[in-house]
Amino acid sequence: METKLKIAVQKSGRLYDDSIKILKECGIELQNGMNKLLNEATNFPMQILFLRDDDIPQYVEDGVADIGIVGENIIYETNKNVSLIDRLGFGKCRLSIAVPRNENYADGSFLNKKRIATTYPLLLQQFLDKNKIDAEIHEISGSVEITTGVGLADAICDLVSSGSTLFSNGLKETEVILNSEAALISNKNLSTEKQLLLKKLLFRLQAVKKAKKYKYILLNAPDDKLDIICSLIPGMKSPTILPLGISGWSSLHSVVHEDDFWNIIEGLKENGAEGILIAPIEKMIL
Ligand code: ATP
Ligand code: ZN
Repeated sequence: METKLKIAVQKSGRLYDDSIKILKECGIELQNGMNKLLNEATNFPMQILFLRDDDIPQYVEDGVADIGIVGENIIYETNKNVSLIDRLGFGKCRLSIAVPRNENYADGSFLNKKRIATTYPLLLQQFLDKNKIDAEIHEISGSVEITTGVGLADAICDLVSSGSTLFSNGLKETEVILNSEAALISNKNLSTEKQLLLKKLLFRLQAVKKAKKYKYILLNAPDDKLDIICSLIPGMKSPTILPLGISGWSSLHSVVHEDDFWNIIEGLKENGAEGILIAPIEKMIL
């Protein structure tokens, strides 16, 4: 029987759409009309298990799933024996302490003898220990943000992305305990065949991730400015240069990293580049 790599993905919730999307960008499509718990990829030896995110590390540790996509917050909080293989660039958030907005919070000592509500007792305890804060952890299973308003807690420790939930509950963020994003985890004892499949998947993931960081750039440049313009966009090896129909001008193709992007564009314009076109790159293999 053909070996298949079993991947655990959140069944529904914040990570679902992007998890399916990144698989798709790796050329892995799900079958239509299969049940909601187990799906089979059409063009890669892979089975997809849909689970609650909190359960994913355990399934991967046990080998029921070989790999999984889950937030780092869950990986560290559940503390299972799995390998973190790669961060995936979505599901970004932070685990933070927040207190009622009218409180005078100077530093962590504010939390001494206070009650903190959270669904992340392990990560919170680690933070408290590290900072020698003696606070009481009140573990609950959800709706952490309302606990201070109803007098259940003095502070909370919860996931934040935009901060709008904190704001609408009269809270302010005072400490960031952990920055988190979705990550790929793996069982530690994969068979050789499965390791090969994982390697194949990782190769595709790298190409997708890399492509997101770069843009394809096309521009026209006067020939006497080619040297300086080429030095601004080094490209992967060097830019491609093609003569234009009118003499004295060339067309130049290359890739630029998003971090340098605006600086480079400004430099190009200053040096006489015209007709600059920027396009997204779908895959990038170096
Ligand atoms: P499940 O039913 O699978 O247990 P859940 O309600 O625990 O779902 P979601 O709210 O869907 O989980 O969040 C899944 C993950 O998305 C979080 O563990 C975290 O890694 C990430 N995430 C990103 N931004 C946020 C945010 N603002 N609040 C909560 N989680 C976020
Ligand atoms: Zn969950």
